[in-house]
Amino acid sequence: MTEVLRITGLAKSFGALKATDDVSLTLNAGEIHALIGPNGAGKSTLIGQIAGWIVPDAGTITLEGADITGLSVAARAKAGLGRTFQVSTLAMDRTARQNVRIAAQARAGSSFRFWGQVAQDQGLRDAVDQVLGDVQMLDQADTPIAELSHGARRRVEVACALALEPKLLLLDEPMAGLGQDGTQEMTALLARLKSRIPILLVEHDMDAVFALAGRISVLVNGAVIASGPPDVIRTDPAVRTAYLGE
Ligand code: ADP
Ligand code: MG
Repeated sequence: MTEVLRITGLAKSFGALKATDDVSLTLNAGEIHALIGPNGAGKSTLIGQIAGWIVPDAGTITLEGADITGLSVAARAKAGLGRTFQVSTLAMDRTARQNVRIAAQARAGSSFRFWGQVAQDQGLRDAVDQVLGDVQMLDQADTPIAELSHGARRRVEVACALALEPKLLLLDEPMAGLGQDGTQEMTALLARLKSRIPILLVEHDMDAVFALAGRISVLVNGAVIASGPPDVIRTDPAVRTAYLGE
């Protein structure tokens, strides 16, 4: 099993509050690893520490074996840490295709891997169509973002992340605010992506989590209280008490 991401002993306090407290976990190729836990457990803080906008007090992060703990947000993205952008970062008056193209151009402008060498327009167009197809947005590719459903916008955000050719995706509540259809579409999208791009998934929708995740880690008060396959987590007494409310 190829390990893509490893975090070891990550900690972050806000004053006296330990938002994350000695958190360690790994993400393997082909896997969705879900991170669940009650509100305030530290899930977003952990994602922020991995993405780089929150500086940890302690701990290390390695991406494909390389230590990225000291890198900036931009350098981590360049190294292959993919994440979705907030809705507000999509240009609302531009089409889905134009938005993805901006992300793809940012990738082409960077000097490594495929696009750096072959940044011809046709290559860029093909790449944009490829990721729009990945998120099933080809039929709405030329619709302005402002006219798209919430779920479709969210899929465009994923397409923008994919256009950067990430080694993994960090997703913080991708189903939040989506209706049943949007949640189902996002679940299907993540299921299709995972063999290509491993995903660290923070999500409250337990149906989606149990459908998608190969492993689940449970965060409570900043600490991982259980980690394992869905069947084990579902029946873990400590998890049921602390999180599933039983
Ligand atoms: P989750 O995403 O699991 O709901 P968060 O990581 O957002 O939890 O928050 C974990 C804890 O850290 C919460 O108690 C939250 O109030 C606190 N927290 C998060 N960010 C900050 C901050 N910038 N300053 C102070 N406290 C924070
Ligand atoms: Mg959060």
